[in-house]
Amino acid sequence: DNKKKLSLTARIVIGMFAGIIVGFLLKLLFPESVLVEGYLTKGLFHVVGQIFIASLQMLVVPLVFISLVVGTCSLSDPSKLGRLGGKSVGLYMITTAIAISFAIFAAVLIQPGAGVAMQSDATFEPSQAPSLAQVIIDLFPTNPFSAMASGNMLQIIVFALLFGIAMALVGKSGERLKGFFDDLNEVIMKLVIILMNLAPYGVFALMAKLFSETDFETIFSLGKYFLLVFVVLILHGVVTYSLILKGLTGLSPLTFLKKMREVQIFGFTTSSSNATIPVTLETVTKRLGVSNKIGSFTVPLGATINMDGTAIMQGVATVFIAQVYLVDLSIADYAMVVLTATLASIGTAGVPGVGLIMLAMVLGQVGLPVEGIGLIIGVDRLLDMTRTSVNVTGDAMVSMIVAKSEGELDVGVFNDDQADLKER
Ligand code: ASP
Repeated sequence: DNKKKLSLTARIVIGMFAGIIVGFLLKLLFPESVLVEGYLTKGLFHVVGQIFIASLQMLVVPLVFISLVVGTCSLSDPSKLGRLGGKSVGLYMITTAIAISFAIFAAVLIQPGAGVAMQSDATFEPSQAPSLAQVIIDLFPTNPFSAMASGNMLQIIVFALLFGIAMALVGKSGERLKGFFDDLNEVIMKLVIILMNLAPYGVFALMAKLFSETDFETIFSLGKYFLLVFVVLILHGVVTYSLILKGLTGLSPLTFLKKMREVQIFGFTTSSSNATIPVTLETVTKRLGVSNKIGSFTVPLGATINMDGTAIMQGVATVFIAQVYLVDLSIADYAMVVLTATLASIGTAGVPGVGLIMLAMVLGQVGLPVEGIGLIIGVDRLLDMTRTSVNVTGDAMVSMIVAKSEGELDVGVFNDDQADLKER
């Protein structure tokens, strides 16, 4: 066909902006009562948006299990797994610690909470932080099917790794099974592509509904906090990641960010690193050149334990709440915040709004009032979306660094801007 078709990325970008504009217009033109009862926002947009998210989530568990089994059973040397795991977890934690330190530094400098009146009508139920021992015990499923049914990512990862290793060890039957899993993997990746093609509509619907409901007055009233989190997120996502990527792999950050746009939009619109896994994995392996062996492990792991954007919100929020409640935090307190936030990110899944639950743990650790979360909960939705984009970008970046260091990165694919486009 001669007619140039818009690329999928372009269509998704258009879907997002069109949704934002339509949402804004609806909000301007119609009183809230009409919108709330309207067939459009509560009806059509809601239905299309939720189907979009559900269809992504539908793929996560089978995709992670199947691709990880395929990746593990083709490892030439399963003893490499320990090193791979250590490297990935280490990098995920270091990048998170950098992110939150940066956020605390910026917040101490800018003082977003100075002069803000202490008032919160929203209530927040704090939840207990699980102990480190429990987090480690919980890595191991007692029942792999219930792990899959409840979408417990770390347990699924552990089971898939063990299953893949055993497959590699049993010879003939392992090989037969590998053929079967390879085929399954191909089918499910195809399904990812099919659903991605519907994304422009899903993204449009989600944005139109959200922006027709967003209360911009609350955001203005907390403008300084909102803007600070936002700016630090963008700086970290663009500048810090570029420096780390360039420094550790020598590859072009611009190419990386350009190829990540789609994943970022999926993260932004769904607010969930978990739901974005199919798209992250597709991009990391087919467009950024990471081998499936590495990507099938680092991507779901990152979606679960790596939350740099969330850490940034926590850093700024902690300082903000301390300022509002006129509490002085010491250097030791800040160190505690960095540590708690980094560890808390391991035990919590990448789903919408989980950042606030982690924040409750952090505040508890340094003795700040957990009710302080009520102050910021009203503006959290848009920030949740933005930080999820950063979270998924971090997952992909660490995947690239690990792959490069293991000799599992295909630089040719990375530099080819047509990579994968034929398959769509
Ligand atoms: N929504 C974020 C994610 O899925 C987590 C959070 O910050 O609430 O990565």
